[in-house]
Amino acid sequence: MLLLNDERWDRVNSMTGGEASVCFQCGSCSAHCPINAISDSGLNMRKIVRSAQLGLDFNGELWNCATCKLCETTCPREVGIVDVVLGLRSLAFEEKKAPEKIEKVVWDIYENGNPWGGKKGERSLWADGLGIKDARAGVKVLFFVGCESAYSREAHESLRSITEIMSRLGVDFGILGNDERCCGEPVLNAGELGYMEEIASQNIAAFQKTGAEIVVTASPHCSNTFRNYYSKHGLKARVMHYSEFFYDLFRDGKLKLRSDSISETAYHDPCVLSRYDDFVSGPREMLSVVTRSPLIEMEHTGRESLCCGGGGNRMFLDFEGARLADRRMDESAAAGAKNVVTACPYCVMNLRDSSDTRKMGIGVHDLAEVLRGALA
Ligand code: SF4
Ligand code: SF4
Repeated sequence: MLLLNDERWDRVNSMTGGEASVCFQCGSCSAHCPINAISDSGLNMRKIVRSAQLGLDFNGELWNCATCKLCETTCPREVGIVDVVLGLRSLAFEEKKAPEKIEKVVWDIYENGNPWGGKKGERSLWADGLGIKDARAGVKVLFFVGCESAYSREAHESLRSITEIMSRLGVDFGILGNDERCCGEPVLNAGELGYMEEIASQNIAAFQKTGAEIVVTASPHCSNTFRNYYSKHGLKARVMHYSEFFYDLFRDGKLKLRSDSISETAYHDPCVLSRYDDFVSGPREMLSVVTRSPLIEMEHTGRESLCCGGGGNRMFLDFEGARLADRRMDESAAAGAKNVVTACPYCVMNLRDSSDTRKMGIGVHDLAEVLRGALA
């Protein structure tokens, strides 16, 4: 028997911004969800949205969603499906129903400033010996490194590439070093909204002390969070992912590129850059100069790109069965790519792992490293 509870309905409705109300249960979201397509456990978004409409409890599958927004591109009622997911996660977090690993992520950010449990004093090890300015001395550009790039050795070459390009182009930039703290995206994805506000206000104060006009990030997850959340909470500085920042310099003729040895290359659009922030053609224009053969497009491309599987806090959870990264790499193989270039540390890690563990022989490269190798 279905028991409807008015009080609960009010709470669900307000936490999800009433987004579910216009859904007419067509099921297009479920039909287009790439996780629903590959996962045995299923992620039935139509059912989740229906639960929100009725004000019912919903938890388990919520944490499987990558918040990639692909379903939203097909929803005839333009439901803010990810808002529904995040609203329901907020309720689950409040009611202590979030997975243990997600609670740990939030605690790690609280205690160590990052979701990986890395030591605060090791955040800027990647920059040792590079002579990068402390942003608090006053800079035009604050380079925000992000937790994934700071603590994952695999991403350090990307950070060195970004800072080398900036130095060679004479950009006045600096970093916050070991005092940089998580942008809070995992906290937002966990639904811990109160703590998220605190993180944003602390980070905004730290950014303001540098006097920076532009915040440039290594991860599109950080730039997306700054642009779409911090800007509503008082951040005045312009926010750019490094690919956007370099593209502006490229268009102005300041970043000069030459053809490099890379060929048979496809560009994988990170969801947060393409679908959330609508930045699609810039990386392709730069790569078209660099690659020896015309850029290859995969079946899902641009704003219809497929998630690598790491978004929405999935990086912190374990899932059984088929992986989204495998599906994406199979698409790249089907399109004839020998190289895949992308611009997000999660995407690089997941796609490279898929290619390596399955011995596909397809190279997965970070865009910054490719650009540094092609500096004219
Ligand atoms: S696609 Fe939109 S209208 Fe259709 S079931 Fe999903 S949320 Fe509802
Ligand atoms: S946001 Fe992405 S992962 Fe989540 S339901 Fe929509 S298509 Fe599936």
